[in-house]
Amino acid sequence: MKVSEILSTSTKAFPSLEIVPPLRGLTKEELLESIAPFMEFKPKYINVTSHRDEYEFREEANGTFSRHLVRNRISETTVCAAIMSRYDIDVVPHLICGGSTKEEIESKLDNLEFLGINNILALRGDCMTGEKRFTATPGGYRYASELVEGIRSYQGSAGYRRSRKLEKDSPVSLEMADDRYFCIGVGAYPEKHFEAPNIETDIANLKRKVDAGADYIITQMFFDNKIYYDFVEKCREAGITVPIIPGLKPLSTVRQIGTLPEAFSLDIPLELTEAMKDAGEDRKAAYQIGTEWCTMQCKDLIAHGVPAVHFYTMGKSENIVKILQECF
Ligand code: FAD
Repeated sequence: MKVSEILSTSTKAFPSLEIVPPLRGLTKEELLESIAPFMEFKPKYINVTSHRDEYEFREEANGTFSRHLVRNRISETTVCAAIMSRYDIDVVPHLICGGSTKEEIESKLDNLEFLGINNILALRGDCMTGEKRFTATPGGYRYASELVEGIRSYQGSAGYRRSRKLEKDSPVSLEMADDRYFCIGVGAYPEKHFEAPNIETDIANLKRKVDAGADYIITQMFFDNKIYYDFVEKCREAGITVPIIPGLKPLSTVRQIGTLPEAFSLDIPLELTEAMKDAGEDRKAAYQIGTEWCTMQCKDLIAHGVPAVHFYTMGKSENIVKILQECF
């Protein structure tokens, strides 16, 4: 089912879970085991992030340089296929502009359509390690809004076109025929994307994504719900009407009070920072404080009538499971 349909038919808030594909070496069984604890909550879908392979150039004895793969994850499409092979659940692969030409993106869409996947979270993608600013791939998309436009203009693979022709009376082919085969989500930043000069410009750029055809929005993580409520109000004032799903991540280590603001350009409230610092070397206490804070945020968001709460699980399940038990 498309996320947009789930959102429009759900009568109460539901959890949405995001996982990161494993680095090479982990088996399919290990991956499926790692998400098994979430299944008791019957999530309606699982998001799978997308990452570019990382290479380094090494100088050879003859003075030339050769390219070597130094870090690669199993692809989002492969992970989605693995999840679908075990669980009766929808999947939402992330699709990023970075690292692919427009034709390569089209090929990825062919693969998704081949697997019967009709949900996508469309993103520009993170910078490469060592890059300060995102560099678009030659022949690729520069912004997520362009990617959304590209997905909306997708005509389908040969098999898909054939099935449209052969089954033109079936409801599935009619749905595909209106160029909205894919339900598209996009990302947003309640504390502003780090490159945007101000929140107003960033929201105007968010609106470009919605105008290009995005069906819903998922926010970056935040640790103070007021920031999310204010952001939603600003988006509505700017004419953005689609659902805006809040994104949450529980802090699990004291170190994250330094690393998360740097990596995601966000604030951690003083009260939470102090509590984590007080936990000091006591890892269990820090973990519990982070879990309790996120539980409190989640309960408050649900009380405010959010359609869903998106969790950045980062491959960890214990704290998320605790939060789901408390809130859903
Ligand atoms: P865009 O919407 O393209 O915006 C990027 C910047 O450009 C913003 O500052 C925006 O204001 C500006 N901008 C947008 N359009 C224009 C325009 N037309 N003219 C001028 N400026 C413009 N990263 C990954 O690599 N893999 C993932 O799986 C992944 N999953 C994510 C999931 C969520 C829910 C979120 C919120 C983020 C995720 N990210 C992921 C991170 C994301 O790729 C980065 O934050 C990236 O830097 C921005 O992506 P975007 O899609 O928001 O970009």
